[in-house]
Amino acid sequence: MRQTLLLLPGDGIGPEVVAQARRIAEALVPDVQIEEGLVGGASFDAHGTPLTDETLERARKASAVLLGAVGGPKWNGVGRDKRPEAGLLALRKGLDVFANLRPAFCFPALVEASSLKKDRVEGLDIMIVRELTGGVYFGQPRGIDEQGGLRRGYDTAVYTHPEIERVARVAFEIARGRDARVTSVEKSNVMESGLFWRQEVTLAHAELGGGVELSHMYADACAMELVRAPKQFDVILADNLFGDILSDEAAMLTGSIGMLPSASLGAPGVPGLYEPVHGSAPDIAGQGIANPCAAILSLEMALRWSLGKEKAADTLFAAVGKALDRGARTRDLGGDLTTRQMADAILAAL
Ligand code: ATP
Ligand code: MG
Repeated sequence: MRQTLLLLPGDGIGPEVVAQARRIAEALVPDVQIEEGLVGGASFDAHGTPLTDETLERARKASAVLLGAVGGPKWNGVGRDKRPEAGLLALRKGLDVFANLRPAFCFPALVEASSLKKDRVEGLDIMIVRELTGGVYFGQPRGIDEQGGLRRGYDTAVYTHPEIERVARVAFEIARGRDARVTSVEKSNVMESGLFWRQEVTLAHAELGGGVELSHMYADACAMELVRAPKQFDVILADNLFGDILSDEAAMLTGSIGMLPSASLGAPGVPGLYEPVHGSAPDIAGQGIANPCAAILSLEMALRWSLGKEKAADTLFAAVGKALDRGARTRDLGGDLTTRQMADAILAAL
């Protein structure tokens, strides 16, 4: 059966950058069938909801989903459950993608643009695997109420055995294709759920971690080490909360937000959801100047992790590096290429 890639361009610069990823997919993997659908504000405008059942069904049946970005000031007044962002959350939940992959790497040509000293980022290549559907963001009970005359707000940090095991499995698998080192991060010194996380990751490693070296680090120490000596890390495995914070921190080590892709993976056989780390960037939408690299590198991750086209993924990654080596730069990288011209440079390097 033919593989399908469902494009959900979304809002703001989403359609601009996804259009360029589409051109590259058509050139690089012509055998993959490409479909398009609406999500976010675009879907709300057309159907009154940020994600229709029909689009979710199409996403479930696809081999992979490549999303642009959702949201923008136009939909600020819309009710909470109809907001563009609610469409993205419904999509993540509907696909049950529990492992969020955020690479932090620096293309050689962009080392100078990094926020860190050259020797700290040259050759930097980290993959953060963040648990996406559990932990303190979802645990019950939670709320704001009054007890014994005291107003209080509270959340519950809870993880179950299967939740930790399945995300640890993803981290070990990814590490095997890299430097085979996983650093698991928690606060087992002060949190029961953190202690449980450490125990469960250790058990999962004994069973599923063959060939992978596992170490543990407290989340605060990891935040510090990421700035002090980021190259010590290969794969960082973290829960939802710490993964959220550490992946943003790691991302900013490397330069422009316009360069960073992400993947969200579920159980084997479930389509992965791929999207740039950046948002809809309303301030530059419609001008044709957005950097398409994050979307194009999200396509690269889709080729690698959902479509089984590792060779095409390697080729695409190398082409992005080559285009940058040749000086191709959008405005955010200090150049003056348009979105389309940046993609042209990558196509030429392909
Ligand atoms: P969201 O809430 O959707 O994350 P945001 O405003 O927090 O939105 P972005 O939409 O990512 O974040 O924009 C942050 C800044 O980065 C903006 O100034 C935007 O113009 C810039 N930016 C984001 N993506 C790109 C891109 N692909 N190319 C160039 N600049 C970008
Ligand atoms: Mg943001």
